[in-house]
Parts: sequence; structure tokens; C-alpha cells
Amino acid sequence: MKYVSTRGHAAGQSFTDILLEGLAPDGGLAVPEQWPRIMRPKLDAMRDLAYPQLAFEVLRFFADDFPGAALKAACEKAYTREAFGAPEITPLRSLAPNLHLLACSNGPTLAFKDIAMQLIGHLFEFVLERQDRTLNVLGATSGDTGSAAEHALRGKARVRVFMLSPHGRMSPFQRAQMYALQDANIFNIAVEGVFDDCQDMVKAVNADAAFKERHAIGAVNSINWARIVAQVVYYFKGYFAATRSNDEPVSFAVPSGNFGNIFAAHVAKRMGLPIKRLVLATNENDVLDEFFRTGRYRPRGTAETHATSSPSMDISKASNFERFIWDMVDQDGEKVAWLWKQVEEKGGFDLSGDRAWERIEDESGFVSGRSLHADRIATIRQVKKDYGVVIDPHTADGVKIALRIRDRGTPMVCVETALPAKFEATIVEALGEPAPRPPGYEGIESLPQRCDVMKPDAEALKAYIAART
Ligand SMILES: *Cc1c(COP(=O)(O)O)cnc(C)c1O
Repeated sequence: MKYVSTRGHAAGQSFTDILLEGLAPDGGLAVPEQWPRIMRPKLDAMRDLAYPQLAFEVLRFFADDFPGAALKAACEKAYTREAFGAPEITPLRSLAPNLHLLACSNGPTLAFKDIAMQLIGHLFEFVLERQDRTLNVLGATSGDTGSAAEHALRGKARVRVFMLSPHGRMSPFQRAQMYALQDANIFNIAVEGVFDDCQDMVKAVNADAAFKERHAIGAVNSINWARIVAQVVYYFKGYFAATRSNDEPVSFAVPSGNFGNIFAAHVAKRMGLPIKRLVLATNENDVLDEFFRTGRYRPRGTAETHATSSPSMDISKASNFERFIWDMVDQDGEKVAWLWKQVEEKGGFDLSGDRAWERIEDESGFVSGRSLHADRIATIRQVKKDYGVVIDPHTADGVKIALRIRDRGTPMVCVETALPAKFEATIVEALGEPAPRPPGYEGIESLPQRCDVMKPDAEALKAYIAART
């Protein structure tokens, strides 16, 4: 399997080549040269596999340059009952006939990002060992990504993590999940500013190629291809759990921000999984909903991005969306480059008159909807009342749109992207009491914390990293 850039120019690279990389040199994202197709006998054989074996079978298609034994070992180390609380890793929970929740957020930081990060931690370790290298992961987080990365990489010998977060702006629970880690390879930097200031500092450091090279700076951000592939696995798992045979179509509802999670579902469909509808839910930040309704893509700036009660979806420039458009324009890199030039020069593009739009409407299965604060609150209440289950605000956005769009003859699987315990204030607003916490998370806010406070200054950040690498 070779990888190319969505903008057409990068030479064919291997999975290992792109594992530690962010953007392709031409500004595009890495994509496989062709989609692997799973034939029916293979799909039937996959149905009863345990999660680590299923993960291995899916990953193998995409990571064919990775030694099989090492890949298998990474899957087995990552997907354990100890880390995810259940032998199924992502158990399916039925709410009603043909209405299910896929529990993807039972990992160490209680959000679905753990599923990919836990695996990546082991893949990184293997590659760095083999190449006798070290890596300094530099990132910015508004909450979930940073904690998932730190929990996956803590204690790893060849990796250090420098994670920037906005000082005083995360929930007490999110803060505790990051700042209470005492591992010597984890550095939490609380920036006196907002998330965008953190992001700008990371960009400034990455723009200094000499510094980047000298200090082996890497990333585990949302465009990382290995994260997408790791997420493909639970669509297979959820499909098998919701059906009895591989003839039955299933729809999935996915609360979306950076388009990484739902793009993994698209990949599963391209590989041959019988997916009918892919229901994309946004919150008030509805750039993607606008696209799937009209064909017009108009990403917005920071000033137009609203802070909402489903904060992990407060994104107005979904980075993985480019991978989807590449696929829909017949993988024409020149066309993608032209479209993204329109974004830069004219603020967006309109595909509604293009052949690609027919494919999106007729073949992709995508449908979308927008869910607002009042919808989240009402949906959390309704799901508690009707099914006795407490869901988190992001999952509620997905369930809200799923209930509107589903047809009762097709199983609808709603992806649970976080546990409600992470977003206490919104749950209290909806239900009058906090959500129960999983065992082991009681009182984490009172554990000793450590972090270094910094002004939003890229030079200060460079000095900080240089002193510790
Ligand atoms: C990251 C995140 C999302 C958005 O997922 P994307 O892959 O960025 O679309 C949704 N919900 C939660 C809880 C998240 O942490």
C-alpha cells in the first residue's frame, strides 16, 4: 500500500513513512493510492473476531510495510480489558429495536480519541526503537486530544510530550486528567491565552525547520493517518454487533468536528462494509452541515467559531474534510489543490454544479443535521427518560439528528464519543445532578497537579523545549 498526497504531488510513501508526519510537503494530506476491498468470505471470517484480532486484520491492509508480528503485538497491547473496561473494547448498547449506542469512550480519558491514541503509542514505540530515534511530540489541546495523547505516551522511553493548553479554560476534570500525570516525559504547559494562541505557538515552532529538525519535533494531531485507520476498526465491530449477517445494511450517526471519526466510517464503507447512511451531526458550528445540505463549503475564522456545550466540536475548518473531497472528485489531486486555493483566495468553494456533488448525494450515504444547545439538553433528558441512559453532550448531538433521520427498518448506531462524567456542568443543567463517574475517577480533581505557566510566546516555548531535550 502506497500513500500519496490529496494534492497530488508527493511521491508514493509507506505507512511507516507517514506515521510520524503531519502534512505532506505540498500542503495536502496522506491518502492511500487505492482502497482495499474486503470480499464477502473475508468479511464473514472477520465477524466473530475479538477486537485486537479485528484491529490487526483491518490495519494490515494499510500498514503492509509494518512487520506483522509487531503490528499484532501493538493491537494486543493497546486493546485490553484493563484499558477499556470491557472485553469488547467498544461494546454495543441497545436503546430500542434498531437504535444503539456504540460505546467508544471507555478508555483512560473517557473519550473516543483513546482508541486511536492507545494504538499509536505502541506503533510509535516500535518504529522509534527500530530506527533508534527519539521524538518530541508537540501539540495544542482544548481538552480531549491532549489528555488522550499523554495517557497513551506516558512513560514511553523514546518519546516526550509537550502539550500546550489554555490556562484556566479547561474543565476541572480535563485539567486533572492532564496535570495530575507525574511521568517524567510529560510536560504540560498552561498558556496565558486561548486555544488559538496555543495553536499559533505550535505552528511557529514547526515553521522553524532548523529547530524542528534539531529537536526531533513531531505531532499526533487529527490529520494523522494512523488515527483514522485505528478508528475504522470500531465501525466493523459496531456493524457486526448490530447485525446477524453481512447482508444487512446499517447506518451510523457521528458527532463531528475535524471530520476524522466520520471519515473513518467512510473508509469502512469504501472497503465494503454495508453502510447505508452516514449521519453527520454538527453543533452551532455548522460548516459541514451547510456543505452537505447545499454543496457550498465556507470554512469560518476563529472569531466566527462559537464556544458551545459540545466543545470538542467547536471547529470551523475540518482538516480531514479534504480527504473526503479528494475521494469524491475521483482522487484528482490537481482539482483538490485548485479547490483549496479557492478556499484561500475566495473563502470557499461550491460543488453543487459539479459531478462530485451527484456522487456525494447518490453514493456517499452522507446526510447531515445541526444540533443546538437546547437540542442537546432536551436529548440528554429524553434519552435518560426513555432508555435510562445518561449520554454526554457530543453524543447527544449525534442522537438528536439520528432520531430525526432514521428509518425504522435499518439499525441506527450512534457513536458515543465521550462519557458524560467529563462534562458535568451540562449534565447538571439537563438532569439536575451530575453523571455517575466510572470507578477510579472519583476525586481526581484533588490529586496533586503540575504544569508550567507560559506567556503566549513562541520563543519562550522554544527555549523551554531546548532546555529539556
Ligand atoms: C474529537 C471529538 C469529536 C469530534 O471528532 P472528529 O473526529 O474531530 O470529527 C466529537 N466528540 C468528542 C467528545 C470529541 O472528543
